[in-house]
Amino acid sequence: MGERVIPLTDWRRGAAMARPAAPIAATGLLADARGRPLRDLRISVTDRCNFRCSYCMPKEVFDNRHAFLPHSALLSFEEITRLARLFTAHGVRKLRLTGGEPLLRKNVEDLVAMLSGLRAPDGEELDLTLTTNGSLLRRKAAALKAAGLRRVTVSLDALDDAIFQRMNDVGFPVADVLAGIDAALAAGLGPVKVNMVVKRGVNDHEIVPMASHFRDRYGCAAVLRFIEFMDVGATNGWRMDDVVPSSQVLGRLQQAWPLHALESAAPGETAQRWGYDDGRGEIGLISSVTQAFCHDCNRARLSTEGQLFLCLFASQGHDLRSLLRGGATDADITTAIAQVWGGREDRYSELRGSAAAPQAGERRVEMHYIGG
Ligand code: SAM
Repeated sequence: MGERVIPLTDWRRGAAMARPAAPIAATGLLADARGRPLRDLRISVTDRCNFRCSYCMPKEVFDNRHAFLPHSALLSFEEITRLARLFTAHGVRKLRLTGGEPLLRKNVEDLVAMLSGLRAPDGEELDLTLTTNGSLLRRKAAALKAAGLRRVTVSLDALDDAIFQRMNDVGFPVADVLAGIDAALAAGLGPVKVNMVVKRGVNDHEIVPMASHFRDRYGCAAVLRFIEFMDVGATNGWRMDDVVPSSQVLGRLQQAWPLHALESAAPGETAQRWGYDDGRGEIGLISSVTQAFCHDCNRARLSTEGQLFLCLFASQGHDLRSLLRGGATDADITTAIAQVWGGREDRYSELRGSAAAPQAGERRVEMHYIGG
């Protein structure tokens, strides 16, 4: 394969943020230009990962010549916690730690402990969760729970070892991820959500075996979610032909078991829920490509180095780290967040393929950098 040149600066350069003049106070009701509230903050704690999934961090691009962020560029735990507190005042009720692989960040359980001390203005606890590839979960589950983590989402793309090892591209075995899921459940981090990215011709024949395994072994304690392969970033060689639409995933499952649609558990939820008629739990369908759910997207993303992104498919973030490190007050940062979210118009998935979609040349941010 020819060498691919990735212009990293495009997606790591955030829009500079001036210190705002007129303060905007947090009311807990911040809404964007389309009336969408801010409820969910995803925080990427590292841009590093020990897997090289071809749909996310392909090995030929993210090899030993790739320059990951230096430690000094990363937000510290204190900086992350300060921002999370200010976002909470604006209405955020859910924090998800992600990456990269979040369990690679040294002492991440200390960050969990700091975040678990935050409360909504009405005193409510926040929903504190983490998405992981599961590789370090067996070792870390108990400490994460003790630090205050509520739940985990674990990514697993196949039960067949050869397929999974080919997909993670580092030869990581299925059994170790399953052991991580067991450890998470034993530690009280359930129900565990399990994310399977489906790629046509790669792992789509694993749809029914995966569903069978999780319903038989875990019942309601695990929720398997099928994710359409998405055109995030610019390195994964995405083609529509590789996407298995959720409608087809559902069709294959319904040939094996009767299922019924369930109400969504929370506004802005990414997955459509389906329950097994026999009560053995449920599955989720995340259809960002074929059934965009931008209309109620309430998620903001904080990159590893403190850029605020308004959409998974954005090409530019807003630099909060320079405010943090430039002596901005809480009121300054609160105002900056309000201005950025208040101007949010993003709805990439709804526009995908249309003339109004962002044009090629605007290079989209990579998912491991802003977090999944
Ligand atoms: N390392 C962690 C993990 O594996 O879960 C967290 C980061 S990962 C970027 C978050 C989620 O994004 C994973 O479930 C992963 O499968 C999913 N993901 C990454 N690239 C994707 C793509 N192109 N399409 C759909 N999902 C993707």
